[in-house]
Amino acid sequence: MSETTSNVVTVSPRGAARVASGHPWVYANEIREPMKSFEPGQPVEIREARRVLGFGFVNPRSLIAARVLSRETANFDASFFAKKLLEADALRRRFRPGDRSYRLCYGESDLIPGLVIDRFDDVFVVQSHAAGIDTLVEPIVAGMVAAFKPRGILLKFDSSSRQLEGLATKTEVAHGEIPDLLDVKMEGSTFRLDLRHGQKTGFFHDQAGNRAWLGKFTKDARVLDMFSYVGAWALAAAKGGAKEVLGVDSSEVACAWATENAKASGVGDRVRFEKADAFERLEALTKAREQYDVVVLDPPAFVKSRKKLEEGLSGYREVNRRGFALVKPGGILATSSCSRNVPQDAFLGMLVGAANDARRSARILHMGQQGPDHPIHLRMPETEYLKCVFLEVGE
Ligand code: SAH
Repeated sequence: MSETTSNVVTVSPRGAARVASGHPWVYANEIREPMKSFEPGQPVEIREARRVLGFGFVNPRSLIAARVLSRETANFDASFFAKKLLEADALRRRFRPGDRSYRLCYGESDLIPGLVIDRFDDVFVVQSHAAGIDTLVEPIVAGMVAAFKPRGILLKFDSSSRQLEGLATKTEVAHGEIPDLLDVKMEGSTFRLDLRHGQKTGFFHDQAGNRAWLGKFTKDARVLDMFSYVGAWALAAAKGGAKEVLGVDSSEVACAWATENAKASGVGDRVRFEKADAFERLEALTKAREQYDVVVLDPPAFVKSRKKLEEGLSGYREVNRRGFALVKPGGILATSSCSRNVPQDAFLGMLVGAANDARRSARILHMGQQGPDHPIHLRMPETEYLKCVFLEVGE
């Protein structure tokens, strides 16, 4: 660290009020010291004048300049992280007893800002979204080893949000072994995950509860799963008794993984996947007058920033218009948005527009969100992102 390094950040009254209310972020313009006196990821005490607000870490390169990790201690050692992560795990076990595959740590919501961990039985995938988490990765891994005795821990530091923190990307085994393909039983199916090369942590646990909902509607159904990735919705449909499922994804490797997963789950004869662009495939299916009992739309985030809201919503409207058109009268549309920047009312407004475009009536049966292993921090609306709406589509 440079000689000018200070271990204290002094926060403006506005920032201090937010932090005191339980929000863990301090923005760059709320810090009194010159930012160049800090190193990225450096542990600091966070104060308002003489009042200690908490302890955390700072990043002079980020707009989120400091994050609070503890209100009590500055000792961020292995036992500090082991304790926090065991608490996070205990919470998951309350609603997922007997299950060992879920999001173990959802950053700010689990009071470890910037740290995401997905669990696949005894294999753990870690993402860091903050310089301070990179700095603390050794005690974090040591804490995980002490708490969970894992078979393997993979650091998958490749998210685009790392750019906002001035961090490079890397993928690295931090402990034990990570098999090239990991067989995991989840949600009643078998997945063969390529954790090193998969998207994000390799699997989207956030939709587990919504996929369980899907199964209620798929007995003997003909199902279309758009943006199918490793086939999690398609397999949930097959498990619910679907007679025929088509999954579509633009990634060839995702389609190959999904096909493998269908075979491993014993439903390869009823489920198939096709590499195609969703917009083109939806148009072709509409032209061919195909009809499905159930259509699932689970696209990637179309709205990457608040400024792009209108543009992204028109993408959602286009996909959903085609989705509505492909549902048989009386059938089901299960449609999602994982864009943090799309508020729920904007998503519902978009659905009204899409239903109008398709000239279909519809009724909302269920509104789902991210599962409870992705808790929403009451004072941080930023931690809410997933919307999943089940509609019965009329004539
Ligand atoms: N439904 C999945 C997650 C989907 S993630 C699940 O529950 O696991 C979004 C997926 O959309 C990715 O697999 C990505 O490859 C795919 N994708 C992105 N753009 C696409 C496009 N234009 N057409 C088809 N698939 C696309």
